[in-house]
Amino acid sequence: MAKKAAKCIAPTGAKRTRFRETPAYQEGLWDLGDQLYAWMVPNGSWGESNSGLVVGQEHSLLIDTLWDLRHTQTMLDAMDPLLRNAPIELLVNTHADGDHFWGNELVANIDSITSAAARAEMDHHKPGSMLAFEKLGRVLMQIPLGHAQKVGHWFSAMCLPYTFNEITHTPASQTFSGTIWKEVGGRRFQLIEVGPAHTTGDLMVYVPEARTLFAGDILFIGSTPVMWAGPVENWLHALDLILDLQVDTIIPGHGPITDKDGVREVKTYWEFVRGAARKCHEDAMPAKKAAHKIVLSDEFRAMPQSGWDSPERMMTNVHFLYRQFNGQSGPLSIPHKINLMRKQALLAHALPDAAPAVMRQSDASL
Ligand SMILES: [Zn+2]
Repeated sequence: MAKKAAKCIAPTGAKRTRFRETPAYQEGLWDLGDQLYAWMVPNGSWGESNSGLVVGQEHSLLIDTLWDLRHTQTMLDAMDPLLRNAPIELLVNTHADGDHFWGNELVANIDSITSAAARAEMDHHKPGSMLAFEKLGRVLMQIPLGHAQKVGHWFSAMCLPYTFNEITHTPASQTFSGTIWKEVGGRRFQLIEVGPAHTTGDLMVYVPEARTLFAGDILFIGSTPVMWAGPVENWLHALDLILDLQVDTIIPGHGPITDKDGVREVKTYWEFVRGAARKCHEDAMPAKKAAHKIVLSDEFRAMPQSGWDSPERMMTNVHFLYRQFNGQSGPLSIPHKINLMRKQALLAHALPDAAPAVMRQSDASL
């Protein structure tokens, strides 16, 4: 079947991304055909996450909310004409990262569902954590010692487009495990749990009748994927599962609408990074040094994946691969996570071509 051309039917008109980059595609509501829609946020960097909408008879399904209330409200306002005759009956959250569920309170009167593993993780991802991160960034920016200002700049730049202080933590109300069928307004779809991979409870939403998949953060397109859980084999397994589905249109959690070619590019990234990290681990190279070496290697720089947004996420990815190689699992403590983000910020400053440029102190004032 020929792929349907998606088109933006309600652009926000933004001339720049939230991180001052040139948008690679229009921000706004996209019509995917078959009464399916996606809210697309270029270029898929920090919190620039996509959502989905499946409109049925009299009721609709919403897939994910956004990182804060303002951005979620803008999305819901754009969807409003579609929802007048088919209000949202169910919200699915694809995982427990704030940029996929912190807008939930704006649809709090509606049933919501996620995997049981994601629901448990949501209790550890409260807006207060980003408020503390934002505050730490501001403090570090004032300290003219060592690399504090660089790190503070990177932390602050990430938070600047968002408002975290007015969010009421609203996790999904229902859970499931494995793979289940659901129906909303006569539209049948599958919820497929594939975590732990990006996070502990990742799930994807498959609409077979429209040959469409909403992949959540199992797919970052043109933006570097980040692994907060693993093992990477689960992630690769999820990508293989997508390649086996009858799909033409795939909405990633971050980045533009894609197809199976996009899935293969992400698979290549993880296969390369896993192999390179394993070699460094066998050589007893510390993870931080390994991340720098891999991201700056000629082999990686020759790959199109090296041009993706936020290549410094290699730092987190190598750390989690090392944890996996060492037989460690479970969530990172907050101090460990902050330290990892500090190392990631410094890696971004070592990559002069990395987008978004505004994250680097040498390239922008905030
Ligand atoms: Zn995300």
